[in-house]
This record gives sequence, structure tokens and C-alpha cells, in this order.
Amino acid sequence: MDFDLVVIGAGPGGYTAAIKAAQLGMKTAIVEKDQALGGTCLNVGCIPSKALLSSTELFHEAQKQFGSHGISADGLSMDVSKMMKRKDDIVRKMARGIDYLMNKNGIERLAGMGRIASANKVEVTRDGGSQKLNAKHILIATGSRVASLPFLEIDGETILSSDHAIALGEVPDSMVVIGGGAIGLELGSVWARLGTKVTVVEFLPRIAAMFDEDITLALQKLLQKQGLKFHLGTGVESAEKNNGGVRLTATKGDKKLELEAEKVLVAVGRNPNTGGLGAAEAGVELDERGCIKTNAEWQTNIPGIYAIGDVVAGPMLAHKAEQEAIAVVERMAGQPGSVNYDTIPLVIYTAPEVAAVGLIEAEAKEKGHEIAIGVFPFQANGRAVACGHADGLAKVIADKASGRVLGAQILSTNASELIAEAVLLMEFGGSAEDLARTIHAHPTMSEGLREAAHIAVGEPLHI
Ligand code: FAD
Ligand code: NAD
Repeated sequence: MDFDLVVIGAGPGGYTAAIKAAQLGMKTAIVEKDQALGGTCLNVGCIPSKALLSSTELFHEAQKQFGSHGISADGLSMDVSKMMKRKDDIVRKMARGIDYLMNKNGIERLAGMGRIASANKVEVTRDGGSQKLNAKHILIATGSRVASLPFLEIDGETILSSDHAIALGEVPDSMVVIGGGAIGLELGSVWARLGTKVTVVEFLPRIAAMFDEDITLALQKLLQKQGLKFHLGTGVESAEKNNGGVRLTATKGDKKLELEAEKVLVAVGRNPNTGGLGAAEAGVELDERGCIKTNAEWQTNIPGIYAIGDVVAGPMLAHKAEQEAIAVVERMAGQPGSVNYDTIPLVIYTAPEVAAVGLIEAEAKEKGHEIAIGVFPFQANGRAVACGHADGLAKVIADKASGRVLGAQILSTNASELIAEAVLLMEFGGSAEDLARTIHAHPTMSEGLREAAHIAVGEPLHI
């Protein structure tokens, strides 16, 4: 079979690229080794984790906050199997949506393992049989897989990856989460809200180190109030399984720590997925982390072969993969596709959520900017107080000379939605004054970001 484009991998990068290519008139095929389309994001990542986060957030709010509204939630309980079924139904429904989009756009779907046989050939293998596809362009969108630790084999029973931690049948009594990044904090929150004693062990001196220290310290305090415990600056060195679970040995400065738990969640990052792909054999260059190397147009060193998403360098985020997908296909079609890597939002869906775009304070200083900063506490925001969600901060970082916004961070309920305003502002090269002079509906939490901009320009209002 002959195609203009063969996409290998049907995650948010791969399926978005296939849709865009079909819309631009390319004869397109998509190859996926797993049964369902949607990749990590839909099947074991973004969507199932958010389904569990919203179920458990409701449960937690009912337990801890309903009383203050005068609502009694006596006899409250959580049926974990029902919560998991809801999550699975959501994933199945969304996967059907992707099937529909493939059919609607006339994309040939091929089930099986894709391997690059040569610069213009992809071999698809399934159940011992194989077929060869001729491709004018090949797009590698094979994503990533869980990283593990050398002394801690993930067995799916006691030692878990995120794949397992989104599918537990019962609430564990205790869990050590290794890694205080996005997965550790999100899935740690899920189980802590259901009663698991969660201890997060993080190598670095703070959690979620991609945010500024004032933001992560505030986040850590709020998570501690929810029952999570933290050992920071701590490295786990060895593990021993026993009847009740696992005993971990860790080092914190010059102290040795012993930690015991029923389950251990390993959340120390993800690695690019190139196993069995035949990329290296076809001469495609990889970098030192094993990511596929590309130029600024997502072309590998082999003409006709491109790569995007988690399998290439950069933040491992679904929206980054999607944006690259659109841009790379536009480039194939001779259009000027591009991605603005300075405005990729980043969110951790804890309660409250934490979101950022652009440079954090340290990065802005490192780059030589003289900066103006505005930090506004949601305690002074009417809507936040009225809703009982006043924990958190909005922060705007601007270049002092030009006023241009370099970055923003928000710790609050719905920060994932609120950050979009800062992303758009930065996309248009807007200033803190632009944000401060923009009318925001009252009372809204979005006024918090505006207030932070007011502070950054030296004209605070409600503080
Ligand atoms: P993937 O989604 O990994 O898809 C790659 C696909 O390629 C897979 O379906 C795989 O089976 C297939 N494949 C691999 N090799 C082959 C082969 N040789 N032949 C055929 N098929 C192959 N990101 C966010 O932006 N927001 C979130 O809230 C978020 N939450 C997450 C929560 C968790 C628990 C995890 C694990 C990840 C989360 N992520 C989140 C990250 C997000 O899932 C990834 O960044 C995103 O899925 C990357 O998309 P991709 O298309 O590059 O790769
Ligand atoms: P991460 O990179 O976000 O966090 C890993 C954390 O583990 C880091 O803080 C790191 O310092 C720590 N760490 C590494 N080795 C350690 C060790 N030996 N001991 C203790 N701590 C150690 O990775 P993740 O949380 O596993 O997530 C994987 C990928 O999935 C990330 O790239 C992330 O962007 C993506 N993801 C995104 C979201 C989201 O957007 N909301 C949610 C989940 C996952």
C-alpha cells in the first residue's frame, strides 16, 4: 500500500498529525500496537488520572468542606470499584471518539507494531504476520514509557508505576511515592484523599521544581494539610519486599531513613519509546537520553523521517505533542508550521492546581532580565473567598524595561483554566500593564492574575 504519510503511534501526537494530514489532502495511515487509540494520554495518563482526581476531590471536599456550607455529609463513603468503572467508561468513550475521527477523515488504521524498514517503508507486524507500507513521509510518534529504578523492579502488585496506580482495586493502607513531580503529586493526592498514608520521597530539595520556590512551598504546605508527608533532598537506595509490602532505605543528607509501605509508586519520569521501532537500525540518530534527534522542523537526519511528542526532546506533555503534530504536517505540506516553545503551559492537577507558563523567576534572572514581580494571594479575591477556595497565589513576572510578561504562575482552584489568559497574553507579546488594564468580570478568580499584574507594574489595588 502507498501513502503520503505513515504515522507510527496513535497518541495525541500521532492521531492529531493523522487528522491534520488527511485534512490537508494527504493519503494517511496510522499504525498502533495497542488495541485502543489515544496513547498514554488517553489510556493510562492525562484522562484516567483526571477522572480519579475529580472523583476523589469531590469526596475530599464533601468530607472536609461541605460542613462549612451547612451541608451534612454524614455516612459518606467511596465505592472504589464504581470510581474505577467511571474512569474506564470515560476512557472507552473518548477512545471511540478517536476511532470516529480516524474514520471521518478517511485515515487507514493499521493494528500492529510499526518498524521502520527503510527511509520510505514501514513494516507492520501483528500475530506473526506482517505487511509493508510505502510512505513518502514517516512520522515517529511512539511516545514514552515509565522509567524505573535499577534496584526496584516494577511488579504491578507492590511496586507500581502510574499504569498500576490508576487501577488499584482497593485503597492501600500506606504508599511511598518516589518522585515529587507531576505523577507523584497527582496520584499521591488521589490515594491520600481516600485515606492512604502517602509519603513522597523527592531527590531535589523541593517538590515540583519546575515552579518557583514560593509557589512550591505554598503547594507543599497545602498538600501536607491534606495528609501527604514529604522527605525532600532524599534518595532511595535500596528496597526489600516483605509480607506486608516493602521496606525502603533512603539517605537524607547524612541521615539514613527506613520507610515501610504497603505499596510503592515509582514516579521518577519517563523515557522515550524507541524499542522495536527499528529507528537506530535505519540510521536515525538518537540523543544521549535516547530521544529521537530532530532539527527545528522535526526532521530526523534521514530525509522523509520526522518525529514529534514524548519521543523527542522537550516537556513530555500532550498539548506539546499535539502542537508539534500540527506544525510538522504543515511543514510536510510546504506550509510554515511552528511551535512557540516559550508559551507551553504546565499544570499539576493537585487541589489546588498549580500552573505555569514561560520563565520562572530564577530563569528570568539567569537570562539577564531585570524583572518586576507581582504576587497576589487569593485570600484577597472575593470570588475565591466566597467559594471557599482562597488558598493560593497568582504571580506575574515581567521584564522591567519593556513591561513584557515573561512568565506567570498560578496556585489555585482551576489554575489549569486561568493560565490560558497568560499564555495568550504572552503569545501576543503582551505586557503586565496590558493585563492590568484588561477588564475582568467581577467576582472571578481571573481577577487574581490581573491583581498580580497591577502589583508588577507598581500599582497595587486590592492589597
Ligand atoms: P503517547 O501518548 O505515549 O503515544 C504513543 C503511542 O505509540 C502509544 O499508543 C504506543 O502504544 C504507540 N507505539 C509505540 N511504539 C510503537 C510501535 N513501534 N508501533 C506502533 N505503535 C507504537 N500530559 C499532559 O499534557 N497533561 C496531563 O494531565 C498529563 N497527565 C499524565 C498522567 C500520567 C499518569 C502520565 C503517565 C502522563 C501524563 N501526561 C500528561 C503526559 C502525556 O500522556 C504525554 O505527554 C502524551 O501522551 C505524549 O503523547 P505522544 O503522542 O507523544 O505519545
Ligand atoms: P517528573 O519529571 O514530573 O517528576 C519526576 C520527579 O522525580 C522529579 O521531581 C525528580 O527530581 C524526581 N526523582 C527522579 N529520580 C528520583 C529518585 N531516584 N528518587 C527520588 N526522586 C527522584 O516525572 P513524572 O512525575 O514521573 O511524570 C512523567 C512525565 O509525564 C513528565 O514529563 C510529566 O510532564 C508528564 N506528566 C504530566 C502531567 C501533567 O501535565 N499534569 C501529569 C503527569 C505526568
